[in-house]
Amino acid sequence: MQSLPLGVSLRNGATPTCAVDDNRSSGTYKVADILLAAGRFLQSPSGQVVLWGGLVWLVLTGRIGIIFDSFLVLFAVVTIVPVAAMLGFRWWINRQLVQGTCPSCGASVTGLKGRAVNCAVCGNIVETENTGNFSVKDPSSATIDIDAKEID
Ligand SMILES: [Zn+2]
Repeated sequence: MQSLPLGVSLRNGATPTCAVDDNRSSGTYKVADILLAAGRFLQSPSGQVVLWGGLVWLVLTGRIGIIFDSFLVLFAVVTIVPVAAMLGFRWWINRQLVQGTCPSCGASVTGLKGRAVNCAVCGNIVETENTGNFSVKDPSSATIDIDAKEID
């Protein structure tokens, strides 16, 4: 009987190389092997029984509520956040929107506060004032009636 440092006992002086290599490789791939085995097991009929059994156990013990709670929180976040964002945007837009009449042609103009907007009717660039009325921003953009004369 010969004792080796790795704890492998040999009989009749057989070479231990194969046994040692096998031990090393099995140790390296142990985690992956377990995961693969678990995946294969869950896909097998007995694994399905365990999977659904576990689900039923969660329901019966009331622990399924944890899963539903997390879904509820997720659902609330997904639905409330866009609605709140939309309401906030509408509130902001309502505060920023100014409705008035074009000082040049009298057509109704809707624009954002402090922003120049083109009158859809006469094309003048009009700007909102603090009072909420519109004023022509650039006088050169105002339409000017010109009496043209033909030159012979
Ligand atoms: Zn106009």
